[in-house]
Order: sequence, then structure tokens, then C-alpha cells
Amino acid sequence: MKKKPAAAKQVYTLADLKDWHDADPPVRLGVFGDPVEHSRSPQIQNAALKHYKIDVQYARFHILPDELREAIDLIRKLEFIGVNLTIPHKIGALELLDVGDDNAKRVGAVNVIKIEGGKLLGFNTDGRGFARAIREEFSVDLRDLRVMILGAGGAARAIALQCAKENSERLVIANRSVEKAQKLADELRDFFAGPKVLGPVARLQAVSLEEAAIRFQIGNVDLVVNATPIGLNRGDSSPIPARLLAPHLMVYDTIYSAERTPFISAAIEAGARAANGLSMLLHQGALAFEIWFQREAPIDVMRKAL
Ligand code: NAP
Repeated sequence: MKKKPAAAKQVYTLADLKDWHDADPPVRLGVFGDPVEHSRSPQIQNAALKHYKIDVQYARFHILPDELREAIDLIRKLEFIGVNLTIPHKIGALELLDVGDDNAKRVGAVNVIKIEGGKLLGFNTDGRGFARAIREEFSVDLRDLRVMILGAGGAARAIALQCAKENSERLVIANRSVEKAQKLADELRDFFAGPKVLGPVARLQAVSLEEAAIRFQIGNVDLVVNATPIGLNRGDSSPIPARLLAPHLMVYDTIYSAERTPFISAAIEAGARAANGLSMLLHQGALAFEIWFQREAPIDVMRKAL
């Protein structure tokens, strides 16, 4: 009698990829990360796959940084459809691609790989996922907003590029290492060359993540985005002092957790509108699904699964 394929594992490793035993339905999609146990992507992607009756499943893979190249080689041989990449692989994967899209190249990070004809195509859907999330949460487009981003790492770069591409009214990048914020601003300078905002403030600015600098800027922004990990750990405080927040602001924390982050709590207390990173996670995942399958993601099904 033919042996029944095993149930999918909670978390696969490189050793599993080397000695692959398929599950039912077969695993042909996944997320590579370290750590990866917390990833919510299987929830949303498997709901979408089920919705379209696609006989494939999406799994978690605990892959260490020095295992990435081999793991990607193996999934290419195993004819995977693609993978998502999360911390710490988003930057390292860029050099392994055959083709990177404009967003991945400009951001310097990849969060979606599609394998097509044995070639690795790389994308970054964080920025577009963010734009869709803001539209959903606050019913407004980035082009109509003056945005302040806290952070200048991978997520901040994707968000800043999206603001630039959508011609936001204004962009302020605030980072602990101000030179990193400055470098990002310099890369985006051409997008902000035209005058848009009336008044004395520059359309594009890099500042340090210090109270005095933020206080000076915050009266001239509409949306403040936390793209630092401050708030991920218990005991973290808000990335900027609560006293700087005001009712006119929209506040978006890219951190997604079931509980309110200190930034979200501070915003609500100040009378501002606030949302967390679940909507960004959902939309970057929906965009990944659309890249893999060339069909519209069943967003309501995915949202419900989340
Ligand atoms: P990253 O590349 O490591 O960048 C982290 C940034 O945060 C850097 O600008 C860093 O400043 C700053 N930072 C870190 N610790 C800090 C501290 N203690 N005080 C002040 N600044 C600090 O990380 P990332 O990949 O951009 O991720 C950032 C956040 O975005 C994470 O919380 C992640 O969960 C979230 N994210 C969410 C989604 C979503 O779908 N919702 C998607 C992607 C990322 P320096 O430059 O000075 O080091």
C-alpha cells in the first residue's frame, strides 16, 4: 500500500529540506526566518490557498543566516512556488536573486521570492502593503499626507520609498543614527524636488530621534509611523514621548501584537487615531499572493484568518 504523506510540521529546518518528505497538501510555499515560530504568514496564506482550492500549503522554515543560500538552492530544486523572507534574511537574499524588482533594489531588501523557470525573482511588498494599510485604516492616500517615519532600517526604507513614489506632501525621517536618516533622505531627494507644501518647512528632512527635533517637526506632519522595534519587548516605552502626540495626528505602529504597544496607547490617550502593523502584514501578504499566483488575493478571507 502507498504510504500516506505526513502532516506538515509546525516548523521545518534546513535538514528537512535536504531530506524532503512531502506533506498533504504538498508544501510549496513558506516563510524563511530566524526566529520564525511567531510568524503569522501561514495563517493568512493558507486561508487564501484554501479559498481558491489550490492544492498546496505554506509552512514556516527556521533557516539560519549562513543556511540561506543552501535553503534557497534546495527549494529551487524542489520546485517551490516561492517564499517570504523575514528577519534576518531580507537583505542577504538580495545577492542570491536572478532578478530583483525596482522596490527590492532601491530598498536593498527582499521579502518575496518567486521561482519561475528555475529563476529567482525578488520583490519587496512592504511599501505597497503599507500604503494599502494606511488607506484601509485612515481612509487617506499617502500623497495627501505629511509623514514622519521613526527609523531608517529595512521597513522604514520601504515606507519612505513608497511615500516618495506616491508624492507625499512631506517626509521627515527621524532616526537614532541621524546619518542613516540623512543617507535615506539623500537617496529620495529627486522625488521631493518640486514644491508642494506652503510654509517654511522643507518637504524632505532627516532628523535625530530626539525630543527637541521631533517637537520641532510634529506640528507639520499628519501621520507618524513607528518603523523601529521599540515596543516589541515588554518594558519598552513609546519610541517618542507621549507628550509630543496630539489629537490631529494619525499614528501607525508597524509592530503587530495582540496587545496595544506603548506607542498606540500613548496615541489613543492623546486623542489621536491609531492602528498597528497587522494591516500592513495582511496587505504585504496579499501582494505576495498576487505575485505568486497572478490573481487577486481574497483579502477578506485573509483578514478573517488573521
Ligand atoms: P531594522 O532594519 O533592524 O531597523 C531598525 C531601525 O530601528 C533602525 O533605524 C534603528 O536605528 C532603529 N532602532 C532599533 N533599536 C532602537 C532603539 N533602541 N532606539 C532607537 N532606535 C532603534 O528593522 P526593520 O526590519 O526595519 O524592522 C523594524 C520594525 O518594523 C520591526 O518592529 C518589525 O516588526 C516591523 N515590520 C513590520 C512589518 C509589517 O508587515 N507590519 C513589516 C516589516 C517590518 P539605528 O539605525 O540607529 O540602529
